[in-house]
Amino acid sequence: MRAIVPHLELCTGCRMCEMACSLHHEGLVNREWGRIRIHRKGIEHYVPVACNQGASCDKECVKVCPVDCIRDVNGHAIEVVREECIGCGECVEACPYNAIHMRGDVAFKCNLCDGDPTCVKFCSLKAITFEEGVPEEFDRAKDAAEAMR
Ligand code: SF4
Ligand code: SF4
Repeated sequence: MRAIVPHLELCTGCRMCEMACSLHHEGLVNREWGRIRIHRKGIEHYVPVACNQGASCDKECVKVCPVDCIRDVNGHAIEVVREECIGCGECVEACPYNAIHMRGDVAFKCNLCDGDPTCVKFCSLKAITFEEGVPEEFDRAKDAAEAMR
């Protein structure tokens, strides 16, 4: 499955991806609502992190959800069916990539915008691309983001 692949050396931390995501999905410009997150350290180290859709994980979020509300509903991506989420937060704890978040009483994560990710279109530097990623690329971003904590 294709996913949003991060290219660390190209990201300048402009956060257009976060804001484009928030506007597309939630109708507001608030990067806290972005399903992609930019991790930052200092003024020159930025790491885009979004769900890898199982390209580099064992879909831990899907496995732990007690009500099975994280699933592939349209053939494009694994997503949270919000109406069914009970807000337990198990998925957030389980994701090794820190790619799923809580907002209020529901979890939310990247669903690839039905197969045409908005964030990718707004990244003029191509620091995120939509393609078949290899685990090493996702793991490099994960390690870099963890090193920033
Ligand atoms: S949210 Fe995390 S565990 Fe779930 S598919 Fe995405 S990267 Fe994998
Ligand atoms: S917070 Fe929602 S999506 Fe996550 S495991 Fe619980 S019920 Fe499932």
